[in-house]
Amino acid sequence: MRFVRYQVGTITSLLGWVLGEHIGAIEGDIFGEYRRLEADIELARVQLLAPILPGKIIEVGRNYIDQVQEQETKIPEIPIISLKPPSTVIGHGVPIVIPEQSNQVEHEVELAVVIGKKGRFIPSDQAARYILGYTIANDVTARDLQRLDVHKTRSKGFDTFCPLGPWIETELDPMDVLVTCRVNGELRQMASTREMIFSVSQIIAFISSVMTLFPGDVILTGTPAGSGVLRAGERVECSIEGIGSLENPVKQG
Ligand code: MG
Repeated sequence: MRFVRYQVGTITSLLGWVLGEHIGAIEGDIFGEYRRLEADIELARVQLLAPILPGKIIEVGRNYIDQVQEQETKIPEIPIISLKPPSTVIGHGVPIVIPEQSNQVEHEVELAVVIGKKGRFIPSDQAARYILGYTIANDVTARDLQRLDVHKTRSKGFDTFCPLGPWIETELDPMDVLVTCRVNGELRQMASTREMIFSVSQIIAFISSVMTLFPGDVILTGTPAGSGVLRAGERVECSIEGIGSLENPVKQG
């Protein structure tokens, strides 16, 4: 099933589910008890919002073999994690804003895991029980600031630096799906999640050994090689096989 958050006119933050080209409303809590109503709203008539407003966003760095080779760094022995503030989140179609502090804002397409259940010290063989579903993220990064700073709070923390969407897919098997990024139609990134160094289950086990994961937390599982510069006026399209496409224009702040 596909969960969305959407807006119709001035009525915002509605919960829904997608059936083909239609949306049905959802009553209740997608993390608990809910009821699906008839899918009678045309998808084209609503504005999709980010499908989740995360309590926290944990980002995994250097998790694809080709990206580690591209950077000529060592394969990490444990997942490299950092936090992105929830204020970075925007939805499908909302512009990514290039801040004046950076001359090198780059795209990073990533498979995003949405946590469905509270957990600490989750064994990797139990991780699937804690996942609500998957969505697409663009872990936008000011690469020049990342090189200048000791940590990634600034380079990954600007408003609009975490497009998420267009929906949460609950049925995906994340072991071997294609992850691609195009800018103005030109292919920039493409890899299978098979090439991830740490699997989704291993990442959940590792992060939950450090911090409690809560429903609605989002984990960005790393990006393949090929991240590149975004310029004002361009359009970036992040796609994941079995989920869909997340598109955002880029503008200067
Ligand atoms: Mg990243």
